[in-house]
Amino acid sequence: VSRARAVLDIRPSKHSLQAIIALPVQHETRLIGVLWLGYSKPHIFSKSESDLLMTLAGQAAVAVANSRLFEASEGGRQQLDAILTATPDAIIVTDPRLRLVLVNPAAEDIFDLQGKEIVGRRINEIIHQPQLAVALHSSDERRSSHEIKLPDGRTFSGSTSSISRQDGSIIGRLAVLRDVTEFKELDQQKTDAIEAVSNDLKGPLALMQGYSTMLPMVGKLNNRQSEFAEKIAAGVEQMSNLIEDVLDLHRIESDVGSSMQDLDMGEIVQNQIEDIKPIAVSRGIQLVCSVGHSIELISGDASMLGRAIRHLLDNSLRYTSSGGTVQVNVQMIKSEVEISVADDGIGISRADQDRLFEKFYRVYGQQDTDSSGSGLGLSFVKSIAERHGGRVWLDSQLGQGSTFYFALPTNNN
Ligand code: ADP
Repeated sequence: VSRARAVLDIRPSKHSLQAIIALPVQHETRLIGVLWLGYSKPHIFSKSESDLLMTLAGQAAVAVANSRLFEASEGGRQQLDAILTATPDAIIVTDPRLRLVLVNPAAEDIFDLQGKEIVGRRINEIIHQPQLAVALHSSDERRSSHEIKLPDGRTFSGSTSSISRQDGSIIGRLAVLRDVTEFKELDQQKTDAIEAVSNDLKGPLALMQGYSTMLPMVGKLNNRQSEFAEKIAAGVEQMSNLIEDVLDLHRIESDVGSSMQDLDMGEIVQNQIEDIKPIAVSRGIQLVCSVGHSIELISGDASMLGRAIRHLLDNSLRYTSSGGTVQVNVQMIKSEVEISVADDGIGISRADQDRLFEKFYRVYGQQDTDSSGSGLGLSFVKSIAERHGGRVWLDSQLGQGSTFYFALPTNNN
């Protein structure tokens, strides 16, 4: 009462207070304020009056707490809204059954959705991008990335993941699409330039190879001379292989000479395992393969897919030391055949993982242990997967090993 007097300037006047009751307005243990009631006549407050006032004070406390909560959540919502509006990446959120929940302005722009009623509609009805629906559908809890090509020629790199509650239950799916058209074009220019140079180099290299093998035929070479001639021939061969790799990559990217047929990936993987087993044995690495049940057929080019798998196996053996294990699995995950090649070798740092599938990218510092690679292998694997509507990604930790995944959509997709 004394504080109320101080605050409210209750001076003796004709309305001066003769009776006053004050009650705490309290939410849980926090005091929010005070509710007071004054009478201009003397008054004794009965129990029922004070009970009623207590109830009112309780309700006022709940109302104040709710409005503060609303203010806080509205602030958070506006902040999120500002972020979603400002980001140039397209963001799409669906519920677990792929009905649209939220689309930011960048996504509206890309898929021409301005002013359309979209919330609650299935993504397939609104966005005619089967790859996006497959991406959102296929990889349930895990994070995965996909390349999405639009009819207007733009290419987006989309990463999808699940939105889950604290108890782990999934409440939706999220797709973030980034425009990588420029990078794709640069990549293509890089390939074109390298292809042109490679073709030009083929002739002189063949000449060098021919003459270095003919050297011993034109006169007897001493030991050092034949050692040097062998080194030259080995160097020339390495260069020729590199050039063949570059030209192969160009062929794959321009889809030259591919012949599609129905294929059993389990069989292709097992054939590659049989071929590579002697190398694993000679390096003291245990190579284990498990093929799951009912692996559906995919449509693809057997020799290209064989090469992709072979390259992943080669790498896993190359970067694993003796006594290690390489585990290969083929399994159906939703509508994809997923091949994983897991090693317990040297692993790859997070920074390198992001660039690993780029052309010519090699991990710095490993070249001394192995100089035969060109850094083209994984871009081969990626191009082959993409040619087949599939994708590649990896999980790795430096020093603990790596798992490469290669997933292809099945024919029934
Ligand atoms: P390369 O022909 O040099 O092997 P790749 O494109 O196949 O080229 O691989 C690029 C780089 O990725 C390699 O130089 C290597 O450092 C790293 N790498 C690939 N596979 C593995 C693996 N299983 N474990 C560790 N590092 C790997």
